[in-house]
Amino acid sequence: MAIQILPDDLVACIAAGEVVERPASVVKELVENAIDAGATDIRIECAEGGKRLIRVTDNGSGIPSAEAPLAFAHHATSKLARAEDLAEIRTLGFRGEALASIAAVSQVTCATRHADETSGTLLRFDGGRLIGQERIGRAPGTTMTVEHLFARMPARLKFLKSTQTERGHIDGMVTRYALAYPHIRFTLVHDGRVSFQSLGTGNLRDVLVDVYGADAAAQMVEVGAAASDVPESSIRVYGYASLPTLDHANRSKITLFVNGRPVQDAKLSYAVAQAYHTLLMAGRYPVAVIMVRVPPAEVDVNVHPAKAEVRFRDADAVFGAVQRAVRRALLEGMTPPEAPTILSKWPADHREAVAPAAGDERLPRDAQPTAATQPSLSGSEAWARVGIAKQTGALGGQTAAALPTAPATRNLPALRILGQLAESYILAEGPEGLYLIDQHAAHERVLWERLLAQHELGALPSQHLLDPAPVTLPAESVHLLEEQLDMLRDLGFEIEPFGGNTFLVRAVPALMIQDDIAAALREIVADLEMGDAALRRDLEARVLRRVCKRMAIKAGRVLSFAEMQALVRDLEACESPRTCPHGRPTMVYLGLKQIEREFGRLG
Ligand code: ADP
Ligand code: MG
Repeated sequence: MAIQILPDDLVACIAAGEVVERPASVVKELVENAIDAGATDIRIECAEGGKRLIRVTDNGSGIPSAEAPLAFAHHATSKLARAEDLAEIRTLGFRGEALASIAAVSQVTCATRHADETSGTLLRFDGGRLIGQERIGRAPGTTMTVEHLFARMPARLKFLKSTQTERGHIDGMVTRYALAYPHIRFTLVHDGRVSFQSLGTGNLRDVLVDVYGADAAAQMVEVGAAASDVPESSIRVYGYASLPTLDHANRSKITLFVNGRPVQDAKLSYAVAQAYHTLLMAGRYPVAVIMVRVPPAEVDVNVHPAKAEVRFRDADAVFGAVQRAVRRALLEGMTPPEAPTILSKWPADHREAVAPAAGDERLPRDAQPTAATQPSLSGSEAWARVGIAKQTGALGGQTAAALPTAPATRNLPALRILGQLAESYILAEGPEGLYLIDQHAAHERVLWERLLAQHELGALPSQHLLDPAPVTLPAESVHLLEEQLDMLRDLGFEIEPFGGNTFLVRAVPALMIQDDIAAALREIVADLEMGDAALRRDLEARVLRRVCKRMAIKAGRVLSFAEMQALVRDLEACESPRTCPHGRPTMVYLGLKQIEREFGRLG
């Protein structure tokens, strides 16, 4: 074939393919136009996953009737006038290509009325050509209807996926914009049914509830609450990020926006994931909605046809800011819940009765130290198994006052043990108040971090049982366990089928050597049943959490001073001492300020 210049409509089709990949890309461009037009209410209607019809209605500025046909010309935009403007883009659109591209590959109807005009305009396009124009009456705003996408491009049409899949892409797109623009009310309708709605309250937390549900939203903490105080000339990071109790198998739930534009940026989502170091198991990812605002001149948005990628002038500074903001929010979100409400909710007369001159004999009966009940295992036996016996011995003979204070770690101040409450809680003094530490939850955290570290090194110690333990399972669990024998082997369990519903356990993680193996295995199998069999990491985490839960010292165990000392030191050394592996707090904190207030020393 000789070289020839392509006819215009073919050029338009080829160019359109860059911008319009699938129905969701049409939704994206039309929604962006509505946002740029200042809309506060945007309604998206689709039929057959957008393949048959996409209609976006907004209450934005509308297009002046004289300019309306021009909006569909190539490189026609009201958002950019000079080359310099390209360096400081404040709108979502700027290329003037979207409407032309969409019109080139579909049938478009545009009904619009500019706010300053008394009547509106209706335009019809087919394959990019204007085929009809008339005056109409309507409220200010714009309705764009796109039908029969790619009808003229059989090759592209073939690449469209099922209605369900295309619908999923549209849902993802609309919810992203709803998260980025909480003050805009979004309504998404599929085949006549409202499938998503945000209310436009302006509150991002409300949109989180709309998108992820109340349960998940309750497990997310605010990032960068003070970001609004930061000057516009610097990097601002804000949004929401999940506590370690809420995680996901991949990075797809890390949603990122740069200057209000959804972006896919592997490095930025890595920065978010990094903030969870040691909080989540390797291979698990958070759920997060993170907005980054940088001065427009600091970012180039013009690097990707669909504008999904951006380039920063100082990428490291942005990544650092994101990671720090998320980490800070997490550590704050996991600080021990303050106890004050408990005290201030006491009836006033009760407080009066206890407060003045409370000698020992006047303490409520159940606050009297009870006689130490003997733990079922001897203390040294139980503690030797968790590897803190050595420290216990070293500190055993010292009195509380003479104890060397541990160096303050990043995450927890050095604590001085005061005693044990209800055989379940360790009372400790910190620099600014009283800490009540749940001994079981704290020990779970200590064991968990130790097991995770060993697991990451591929070095979880395993120990053979002197007498292999036969364990019989319910028939319906046999298959499940057989499927997971390899995974369990990597965690230190050597288990083999023994005929019928019975398995023989030959080795277990060293930590569990004295556990009731049959009971443990039944619990583990029950955990596996609740897990996601497709996600090995999920199953591993469940098993390890179960091991920690079983082996952690229980509530109701009297601890010696040295044992408490050792546990608290181990907890201080943890990366995330404030929550147990299940995400519950390990401690409650009562600040000195609060104590003084309770005693009427502060106003
Ligand atoms: P861009 O958004 O890059 O400017 P588009 O092709 O998406 O290019 O839109 C072309 C122009 O049409 C816009 O610059 C804007 O002036 C106008 N326009 C498009 N959609 C709307 C809308 N929903 N409301 C008001 N004006 C619109
Ligand atoms: Mg646009």
